[in-house]
Amino acid sequence: MRIACVGGGPGGLTLAALAAGRAHDVTLFEQRASGTYGLGVVLWPDHLSDLALLDPLLVHRLLQHAVAWRDQHISTPGSPAVVLEGRGHGIARATMLSLLEQRAVELGARVERGTAIEHPDVLGSFDAVILADGAASALRSMRAHDFGSRTREEGNRYAWLELDRPSDRFAFPFITAGDGWAWAHAYPFRAGATTFIVETTESAWIAEGFDHMPTDDAVRRLEALFADHLRGGSLRPARGTAPDALWSRFRLVENRRWSSGRTALLGDAAHTTHFSIGSGTRLAMEDAATLVELLDHAPSAEEALRTYDTRRRDELRGIQRSARLSARFLGRLPRYIDRPAEDFAHLLERRRSRLLPLIPTGIYLGLTRPRSGR
Ligand SMILES: Cc1cc2nc3c(=O)[nH]c(=O)nc-3n(C[C@H](O)[C@H](O)[C@H](O)COP(=O)(O)OP(=O)(O)OC[C@H]3O[C@@H](n4cnc5c(N)ncnc54)[C@H](O)[C@@H]3O)c2cc1C
Repeated sequence: MRIACVGGGPGGLTLAALAAGRAHDVTLFEQRASGTYGLGVVLWPDHLSDLALLDPLLVHRLLQHAVAWRDQHISTPGSPAVVLEGRGHGIARATMLSLLEQRAVELGARVERGTAIEHPDVLGSFDAVILADGAASALRSMRAHDFGSRTREEGNRYAWLELDRPSDRFAFPFITAGDGWAWAHAYPFRAGATTFIVETTESAWIAEGFDHMPTDDAVRRLEALFADHLRGGSLRPARGTAPDALWSRFRLVENRRWSSGRTALLGDAAHTTHFSIGSGTRLAMEDAATLVELLDHAPSAEEALRTYDTRRRDELRGIQRSARLSARFLGRLPRYIDRPAEDFAHLLERRRSRLLPLIPTGIYLGLTRPRSGR
């Protein structure tokens, strides 16, 4: 089958590698001549195990370049950190993408870098066209009616930063800022460097003056606020951050349909997942694996894309709900954070619970932490 894929992120490149590995004729178009946005992402052990069943060599290479972390350290002002179990790997997004691209090319895919596709119609000669062009997909917007697309920005502001210090854990430091709260999601992604995503409540963001502060000043202010957690290190914005765009809000992307004729949406172009559960990359790569499996066996490309649409949408329902609950918990942080440190850590760990937002927090703690004396 002749497959065109637009976008060389984790979704598009995984599709190119897996489809080329099954002898499909794949051409991937990536608008950037080189480089990418962002810093490190978390890769979870169960995701890597699943991927290893499809391409053990790829997983071997990813692990050679990833940094393992163990345990989550949750700290709140005036209390020692609470340590929860957990483990994962951090990897630089740029490294992950170049390993994926290398794999796609050695399996026979053509990767045309520096080629921005201006309109889906230019790919009319392909049997299947996969739009893996990210959350801001312009090609999806041109066909928003066909896909039933809805996008909006919502939730807390965040800044994607790099800390020039190594780490062996996932840290969640919570601090007071202005008249609200700020916290970081911090994990290693390469030797000597840590991804440090800062999120703030709206009141902290306004009170600190981040709404009008130049980026350099804002980064220095964040260093001062998080000084106790930086071990003498410095912060700098993630690569690809425009000078006046340190702060973002989560971009929610939903589509009623992920396929239309011979075209399908994949990864963030189809569905975004709040970064607080660290799964967007994984889901994009799993979309690709499902789609390749179906392209291999369905009688036609259109049928494969239709089945992909219903199957993946179904599979993702649970994790999308978890991500919404996690984002909602962080959006309502002041409601939970005044609890004793152990209780707050317990709530944070259970932030994907459907019950938690529905009942008073004390009752929830009593039900789920019976030995805490409530
Ligand atoms: C702060 C933050 C932290 C995150 N942390 C994690 C994490 O820890 N773990 C995790 O799993 N996920 C994480 N994510 C989510 C993850 O980054 C995305 O879900 C993932 O990158 C989606 O992959 P994708 O391939 O669908 O799209 P993208 O990675 O966005 O790639 C899209 C590609 O398409 C290209 N493109 C766009 N338009 C065109 C065009 N017209 N022609 C050609 N090329 C085009 C772009 O240049 C880009 O390279 C995080 C996201 C954020 C914002």
